[in-house]
Amino acid sequence: MRGIITAFLPAAALWLWSRSGAGVESVYAAHIYPAVGGALQAATGPLPFSLFEVLVISGVVLLLVLGHRSVRRRKKLSFLRGVLIAAGWIVSFFLLAWGMNYGRDPLKVQQGWDRDPAIRGPISRGEIRALASRLCLNARYAYEDLPPEIASDAGSTMPYDRHELARIIDRGYRTLDWLAYAPARDWESPSPKPVQVLFFPFSAAGMFSPWTSEAQYDAGLPDASLPFTVAHELAHARGFAREDEANLVGFAAAVNAGDPYARYGALRSGCSYANNALAKFDRPMSRGLRQLLPEGLRADQRAINAHWDKKPELSMAVSDKTYDAYLKSQGVEDGRQSYGRVVKLLVWLDRAGEITLDVSR
Ligand SMILES: [Zn+2]
Repeated sequence: MRGIITAFLPAAALWLWSRSGAGVESVYAAHIYPAVGGALQAATGPLPFSLFEVLVISGVVLLLVLGHRSVRRRKKLSFLRGVLIAAGWIVSFFLLAWGMNYGRDPLKVQQGWDRDPAIRGPISRGEIRALASRLCLNARYAYEDLPPEIASDAGSTMPYDRHELARIIDRGYRTLDWLAYAPARDWESPSPKPVQVLFFPFSAAGMFSPWTSEAQYDAGLPDASLPFTVAHELAHARGFAREDEANLVGFAAAVNAGDPYARYGALRSGCSYANNALAKFDRPMSRGLRQLLPEGLRADQRAINAHWDKKPELSMAVSDKTYDAYLKSQGVEDGRQSYGRVVKLLVWLDRAGEITLDVSR
């Protein structure tokens, strides 16, 4: 019993600390996370494959082998004890290496948006309409600006590899002068890694692994998904744990990176989020905006939908529920719904004067 308690003790202490909020921003996020996450990143970054994927698959195999042997040798209890001890250390390390970031001040507090009368306050339908129009029109312009060798009516192709994509997104992060959290801006990201099999049954496009500090994406994702997915995972790597916040800073980094394909990828995702929010109260306008999108962009969208349609429905539903429960356990009250809250943050960022999208074409 003592071994189990010892393994969960650091987890309990860190979880309580992250919930208390005291010093999480000034001590954990400013010093501990950059040190621990940075060291892990330096160790795993050079590996050409996802160490996380290898660890998970070997962990499952080990669990099955040891479980089977414990049944044969009638040592089920000591097996169970071993599993609990391992689980305790896994959770403890998760919180130390990254998970405490869920206890950071929300982005709106870090930025002072919640104290600024010109920024805080409810969002009107008119603002959602305006945001969706600007994002979708700019997604269209961004597509039309891509050179014909990478974008046709049949869809688009990313003109560089994942290493170059990481460098581009990093460049974008460095332009975000408005971002109050300083370690996030000059963070040197390792290249994101394609995950070959692990994601197949799950509803994840990407994932940041806190234990190995690796940003990963589903190897089967269509190119058009990559800039935004990778920028989002690199936001997690920079200590933004919450999904809406990772969406917002990832979007801003990719749009501002000075690269046409990254800009297109981010605007396509931004348009899709804002248009989904619009569709909740104005379906005709939402449909109208979708019809404005160029044929090639719609082909990209169809390829992305087809990617999701290939996945087994049952395992998607199970992974959705599990991820929802996980987010709620980390204090994200609306769980998976929280991704969509990026629309509210986008309006606030716009009110703060940090979104410059021209529609006068
Ligand atoms: Zn995420």
